[in-house]
Amino acid sequence: MGSVMKTIFEKIIEEELPAEKVYEDDDVLVIKDRHPRAPVHLLIITKKAIPDIQSLQQEDLPLMGAVFAVAKKMAKEFGLEESGYRLLINNGPNAGQTIYHIHFHLLGGRPLGPMG
Ligand code: 5GP
Repeated sequence: MGSVMKTIFEKIIEEELPAEKVYEDDDVLVIKDRHPRAPVHLLIITKKAIPDIQSLQQEDLPLMGAVFAVAKKMAKEFGLEESGYRLLINNGPNAGQTIYHIHFHLLGGRPLGPMG
């Protein structure tokens, strides 16, 4: 049980809301994005409820490493190793963050165009 106001992702982690899970371990959950922006659009979510990058503590840094290991594994499973993919965090209002529970978007399966 995290904060009083649970985010959508906390509810998904605690199985109060459904989601299409593709990977899970003790620290990380990966689901398919409900509104995919690319043929592959996964959300790599930490089970620990960290609101954003600015809230990360020193103790969370190994968890960020674990996220990269999962991203690498997912890229292989979804056939993105050769074609490439984008791994990104929308952090804060100007980036369009809508869910304040840290998560990485993994996008691929087509040319993604420039950032900006
Ligand atoms: P953000 O805008 O915070 O970077 O990303 C939130 C993402 O979560 C969006 O891409 C949005 O489509 C996705 N999303 C929001 N609600 C749900 C949900 O209930 N289930 C799933 N699978 N994805 C969701």
